Amino acid sequence: MRTIGHFIGGAASAAPAARTAATFNPATGEQIGTLLLADTALVDSAVAAAARAFPAWAAMPAPARARVMFRFKDLLERHIDELAAIITREHGKTFEDAKGELARGIEVVEFACGIPHLLKGEYSDQVGRGIDTFSMRHPVGVCAGITPFNFPAMVPLWMFPVALACGNTFVLKPSEKDPSCGVRLAELLAEAGLPAGVFNVVNGDKEAVDALLVHPDVAAVSFVGSTAVGEYVYRTATAHGKRAQALCGAKNHLVVMPDADLDKTVDALMGAGYGSAGERCMAVSVAVAVGGVGDALMEKLVPRVQALKVGPGIDPDSEMGPLVTKEHLAKVTSYVEAGLAEGADLVVDGRGLKLQGHENGYFLGGCLFDNVTPDMKIYKEEIFGPVLSVVRTDTFDEALNLVNTHEYGNGAAIFTNDGGTARAFDYGVVAGMVGINVPIPVPIAYHSFGGWKRSIFGDRNVYGLEGVGFYTRVKTTTARWPSGVRSGAEFVMPVLR
Ligand code: NAD
Repeated sequence: MRTIGHFIGGAASAAPAARTAATFNPATGEQIGTLLLADTALVDSAVAAAARAFPAWAAMPAPARARVMFRFKDLLERHIDELAAIITREHGKTFEDAKGELARGIEVVEFACGIPHLLKGEYSDQVGRGIDTFSMRHPVGVCAGITPFNFPAMVPLWMFPVALACGNTFVLKPSEKDPSCGVRLAELLAEAGLPAGVFNVVNGDKEAVDALLVHPDVAAVSFVGSTAVGEYVYRTATAHGKRAQALCGAKNHLVVMPDADLDKTVDALMGAGYGSAGERCMAVSVAVAVGGVGDALMEKLVPRVQALKVGPGIDPDSEMGPLVTKEHLAKVTSYVEAGLAEGADLVVDGRGLKLQGHENGYFLGGCLFDNVTPDMKIYKEEIFGPVLSVVRTDTFDEALNLVNTHEYGNGAAIFTNDGGTARAFDYGVVAGMVGINVPIPVPIAYHSFGGWKRSIFGDRNVYGLEGVGFYTRVKTTTARWPSGVRSGAEFVMPVLR
């Protein structure tokens, strides 16, 4: 049993806390840790450490900051198994899937290694006679990141490598459900040579979040999590004069056209619907079968869902691990019950799954509903579990209209062999990330991630150039010079010191 604290000013912090929370291994239901919940005073100390570290870090040449990122990337790669094991133990996802989220996070660190190029700025000479104008991006100051349980490494890595590389300092508030990864990332950053105070971790819940949202020294807030909390975070942070981006909930549709390759479509639905137990913001939770393809699709899909290998994340044979908490298992199960009550056909029922030796784990087998209609709660709300709903429509237009009238617009995918249909879907769909024969179109690190509609609050996506934009402010200088002559000569090749 571990005590999980914080990382502030370059060192671990585990001072006794007035409030604590238990952490659990979802595969066994056992308590594995006690989390010290940060209060306002502790958050203040982390923000103060970040504010103190800011001037020197911001003034460090960008290539020197990039070198820290290069070393951090190397350390992440060398510690990938250890980090994945931490994730599997607290989150429940399979070990290989945990390694996958780390690999996608490392790609953002690679992107951040290119920060000197990204911060080059813009220059226009002779905007008037003898007058030049240039625009440079400067860091904003102390940035805060508030992250969800489902990607304890990748989502923080969407944020802080870019923020730090731009010259900001950072306070991360990880999910209280799987808090250990954040502190370990902070230790690896310190090992990579990051100066004390540049990156801090406060573990906690709403009290810690609220303290960050109103703190006068926090300049920017990045949030990833549920829509209700994200809207609150966005409104509160912006009301307190901060820039904010909040990436939120989703209900991602995958439209199956009659000409789609059904074997490949079913493979895609299995991974996107049940991978990570459906606890992904880009999980596919609705399959829309168009123009009579539904029966053939179900014929292939049902046996695959029935055969899904559910087990502890550390078992290499498991395709899907448990849900994150007992409460979440109860919530997802209640959605399955709601679907039945509303008249959807529960074709595969994963409830009541008990695994030998893991009787107290939070396991739910894959669930599959057919004939789901848009008025049903299981269609309208994000379930965030291994529950796939199949909706049937007669036409492509009806399918597109379904996606477009849903309140969420994170990702949307179409499976078809027809270029014209794919193009019409891509152009017309009201969603931030589109997959054409790709079920989970999470953009790579040098593009940016973000949904539309109530899947995001704020106007900047995360990572890529959007991330650089979010974590910097533009200074535009207009200059006119009297002529001048430099004196002195240097004979040695100039190098960065
Ligand atoms: P959550 O909203 O419960 O928690 C997210 C963060 O907010 C956590 O750090 C938590 O401590 C904090 N928090 C929770 N309640 C709060 C409150 N009342 N006031 C202040 N802070 C609070 O989300 P979760 O359950 O951890 O994660 C799942 C959700 O995240 C899903 O809705 C999923 O779609 C979403 N998500 C979205 C994306 C995306 O990029 N759009 C990515 C991953 C997850």
